[in-house]
Amino acid sequence: MSAQEAERPRPPDGGPAEGGPLRGLPAVDRVLRSEGAEALTALYGRPRVLEAVRAALERARREGRGAALTAILEEASARLEASMRPSQRRVFNLSGTVLHTNLGRAPLAEEAVAAAIAAMRDPSSLEYDLEAGRRGERDSHVAGWLTRLSGSQAALAVNNNAAALVLALNTLASGRETIVSRGELIEIGGSFRLPEMMARAGTRLSEIGTTNRTHLADYAEAIGPESAVILKVHTSNYAVSGFTASVPAKKLAPLCRERGIPLVEDLGSGSLVDLERFGLPHEPTVAEAIAAGADLVTFSGDKLLGGPQAGLVVGRADLVAKLAKNPLKRALRLDKIRLAALEATLKLYADPDRLCLRLPALRLLARPQSEIADAASRLLPALAAALGDKATAAVIETKSQIGSGALPVSLLGSAGLALRPAPGISVESLARAFRALPIPVIGRIEGGRLVLDLRALEDEAALSEELPRLAENLP
Ligand SMILES: *Cc1c(COP(=O)(O)O)cnc(C)c1O
Repeated sequence: MSAQEAERPRPPDGGPAEGGPLRGLPAVDRVLRSEGAEALTALYGRPRVLEAVRAALERARREGRGAALTAILEEASARLEASMRPSQRRVFNLSGTVLHTNLGRAPLAEEAVAAAIAAMRDPSSLEYDLEAGRRGERDSHVAGWLTRLSGSQAALAVNNNAAALVLALNTLASGRETIVSRGELIEIGGSFRLPEMMARAGTRLSEIGTTNRTHLADYAEAIGPESAVILKVHTSNYAVSGFTASVPAKKLAPLCRERGIPLVEDLGSGSLVDLERFGLPHEPTVAEAIAAGADLVTFSGDKLLGGPQAGLVVGRADLVAKLAKNPLKRALRLDKIRLAALEATLKLYADPDRLCLRLPALRLLARPQSEIADAASRLLPALAAALGDKATAAVIETKSQIGSGALPVSLLGSAGLALRPAPGISVESLARAFRALPIPVIGRIEGGRLVLDLRALEDEAALSEELPRLAENLP
């Protein structure tokens, strides 16, 4: 018995202490000696069982109620189970935003999952050249695919696109100027603000043009002895419309070449294939940016590409080599798990005809509305039954968005279920009940209703199976 357990006087049989605040409660050591507690100890280990039993007793005492040993064990067991549940959990993303940054962006292809698991389990040739029998390059596993798919000379991979941009600017423009149009000084979700990122990369921002209009002459006039990079940024999460002008890479590239200044383009989502092929709106592809004359292009691995979180840089071999030599590259490099998943994802692009079936991000984005509506009709009866008189449910047409800043203005026709709470029940409490399911369901609140967009729902069976438990969570 530990010193803490022994601190309170208690009768020799380990029963409730006489007359104290523990009246009607079993003593800690009696609970711990019980069969139930031994079973818990086998699962969770003694220190945690002791902690949970103490907490359960403490709560009963605070609430001034007696409790039987079984009740204390039950509460301890529930506490232990809750504390063992992973903090990062699987959820159903029915938010209508397919590549939702808060929900982990792109779901990976089975091929990528398998490759990641294999890389985790055993030693690998991560940085080992098997042919030569000496140290190799970790990015070599993906560089070949990236250059082939983008028509570029060289490629490297880092932690995410923000890192790719910082690495590019720090390598090419540290202590000097980077020219950016005022129409492209983006913020992507609070923590990514281009001017702040540039300052941390050690480059001075030279803003040119205006919010709505920037011309080639603005770039030409801004170039001076301190200019190191011209940066173009894909305005991925907003659209400027009306009286606007911007200079595409194709127009900018000849100027950059003439003045000997690298043109870096941050594509953000950067698709590796033309999405129109899958009936989706056009998003600039990496190959197009390279063909237009960008010297370096940066993009994310977990947006439209549909792979793990990564930042990819493709472009001129001499510039990529400079980036690779920057000590920051070491700080920003990818681990073997993600490199394996990325390599497997890129391989899927070698067969564009089957890409849409095998790559979940594209499969979900290209899903026809009629198919989604069918899923909604199938789920409606079980959902209505689970809601009882707490809310009404109806199949609706809705619009999904791609998310992660891709194609901000183009929405995809989708379908789902709209739940309207009964009088006296708030839509927030309805949303909370769905989030409290074993696999939390994340919908979106719209006009007093909870909307579940089913575009990203592939595992209908798992959702149906847990719906009956909704009643436990409803107010
Ligand atoms: C998403 C995005 C980024 C940031 O990419 P991460 O991979 O999230 O770091 C940077 N620039 C643009 C244009 C983006 O759309």
